[in-house]
Amino acid sequence: MNKYWNEFLKKGKIKNLPVIDIHCHMGFFYGSHMPYTEPEKMAERMEISGVKLCVFAHHYSLFDPEIGNKIVIEVVRRFPDKFKGYFSINPNYNLKDNIENFEKYNDVFVGFKLLPDYHKVPLSDRRYKNIFDFADEKGIIILSHTWGGSIYNGPIEVEKILKKYKKIKLILGHSLHSAWDKTIEIIKNYENAYLELCAVMDERGVLEKIVSEIGSDKILFGTDFPWFNHHYYIGSLFGAGLSENEIRKILYLNSFKLLFPTGKGE
Ligand SMILES: [Zn+2]
Repeated sequence: MNKYWNEFLKKGKIKNLPVIDIHCHMGFFYGSHMPYTEPEKMAERMEISGVKLCVFAHHYSLFDPEIGNKIVIEVVRRFPDKFKGYFSINPNYNLKDNIENFEKYNDVFVGFKLLPDYHKVPLSDRRYKNIFDFADEKGIIILSHTWGGSIYNGPIEVEKILKKYKKIKLILGHSLHSAWDKTIEIIKNYENAYLELCAVMDERGVLEKIVSEIGSDKILFGTDFPWFNHHYYIGSLFGAGLSENEIRKILYLNSFKLLFPTGKGE
């Protein structure tokens, strides 16, 4: 058991171990009750569990990016130390000014967020092309939900993108959940692919298997907060038998390097 365990159980957070949650949301979501959906409440909860920074896409921007992305700008400007934003794309709306707006608010947005499964548009569809071309040229982060069995964002679609685009930093949200052997193969084959842990810990032993095959450098901590609870996810990580060094990389260092490649930004 690593040394973090006792302090975490007693205090709910570790003093010298900050956490970056690279996959968050915000706001109401139809048909679901989440007690902490507003930025003030979310910030309070982050304080309790030692989460320093949440990178989020507002729920509204998953469906109507024109409305939701504006809320992201407002929230990040109000809480610049607590939140950074993803610029969400809904490819069913052909918005010409996406890239322009992304660049205009570069203090707010750290990358793009794609939800091919929700929008029923496969990752390799031409409607995403201008976003991938732009992101590849500049080496920008793209977080896409990925699920093992999906025809929209499963392994086949993910590989089409990674074969073509070598400079984007593609975060595989949910790590191609359930297609674990493929997940490992993709990380071994493509340097610009990263795994994100939301939902991965619902299966025992998977994280241990992934780390034993590919190490911990390409794994990022994410929870879909406020859908899920930080204590549960951080506790699962502590319980997975990883080394302190591996935990530190996954919870903080890997995401920090990705978000702030020059080392500044804290
Ligand atoms: Zn998400």
